[in-house]
Amino acid sequence: MPPARYAIANLIHFDQPFPNQPIAPEIVLQLLDKIGSPASMAMAGSRFFGMVTGGSLPVALAANWLAAAWDQNSVLYRITPGTAFLEQVALRWLLDVLHLPSDCAGAFVTGATAANFTALAAARHAVLKREGWNVEADGLFGATPIAVAVSEEAHPTLLKALGLLGLGRNRVVKVPVDSQGRMRPNAIPALTHPAIICTQVGNVNTGACDPVGEICDRAKEIGAWVHVDGAFGLWAAAAPSLAHLTAGVEEADSWATDAHKWLNVPHDCGLAFVRDAKALQAAMAITADYLPTVSDRRNPSDYTPELSRRARGVEVWAVLRSLGRSGLADLIERTCRHARHFAQELKAAGYKILNDVQLNQVLVSFGDAETTQRIIADIQAEGTCWCGGTIWQGQTAMRICVSSWATTDADVEKSLAVMLRIAGKYCSRELASV
Ligand SMILES: *Cc1c(COP(=O)(O)O)cnc(C)c1O
Repeated sequence: MPPARYAIANLIHFDQPFPNQPIAPEIVLQLLDKIGSPASMAMAGSRFFGMVTGGSLPVALAANWLAAAWDQNSVLYRITPGTAFLEQVALRWLLDVLHLPSDCAGAFVTGATAANFTALAAARHAVLKREGWNVEADGLFGATPIAVAVSEEAHPTLLKALGLLGLGRNRVVKVPVDSQGRMRPNAIPALTHPAIICTQVGNVNTGACDPVGEICDRAKEIGAWVHVDGAFGLWAAAAPSLAHLTAGVEEADSWATDAHKWLNVPHDCGLAFVRDAKALQAAMAITADYLPTVSDRRNPSDYTPELSRRARGVEVWAVLRSLGRSGLADLIERTCRHARHFAQELKAAGYKILNDVQLNQVLVSFGDAETTQRIIADIQAEGTCWCGGTIWQGQTAMRICVSSWATTDADVEKSLAVMLRIAGKYCSRELASV
């Protein structure tokens, strides 16, 4: 359910002059609930298909509350050993279940944007170190320029991360893609070292995955660093029936993914993995006389852009401990099955599915752009489910992302019934004439 108009209008009650006197915390919380709750989008619900973000699994939410109550500033092992250790175990499990090299370093950050930034900072360090340049100490001025290749379909946050690192959002080489948005390996231009190639598994529209293994083979010829933006798609590796989609990702040098998407933990929680642990540490670790940074155990902040940080590893550990290998595979496979069902039923009703539904993304066109947009708006207003719109290779589409643990077959049927009823009102004449 999107928030009703009256609920949004009521937000004005939050905006009183800054109070001079304290009031009871209970009253503050009542206000938040009374005004804030109705004005929230039902993203935790089972029929929110608007982004690739899942809801929070109950165990994740409870672990998140517990960790918040512990209030550990999870920076250094010697100060917060419990949460630092949980991170370390969660990291080992993640590398295992995602089939990444077991000696990778990892960072728990805010999301895939920050994870791309973190991993690419390690890439920047490593490729320039080979040129005899210390980028952390000396910056980019005077360094050998780094060639950066991305696909035409790179997520905008990947470009943003490159911009933040001084590598430029626009000075990249854009590699052409196929009809599903996958990078064409033989279209990668000749690059010379230092070079970074940014691949993607899980296109935000189609769900398609770049052929990372093939791209790695090409990259090896010139010693380029290969990064994988796998914000949601990397989780396909955790599901036996889908793992072929991410074949070869383990050959890359760094990976970014989200836990707040398909792992269904609360926002904000992302993960960066880097094969060359020293490169990530070189980019991120600091020392200070007032901090006990020296430890033979893993210090979380040696791997992250932030120093002070919440203990994101707690909820990740909790979900992995609760689902186990088979539970996680089931979550990924089940959501993909729901996506396929959406696509089958919409196609059977005569609407056009614009993508090969291999993962959890469905793009459906109800006809021309205007009709599709009207139908999306009506579905959103009706409130049973929520889907957004997009433009895929010039065609306007409704985008259905199934990422929540809570979505059931009944949710899919209920949502389909609404979609078909609303679309039918606009399209009956059009379809009758086909
Ligand atoms: C969602 C997404 C991002 C950005 O992730 P945030 O967690 O919102 O920072 C980056 N890349 C891809 C492919 C995504 O799907």
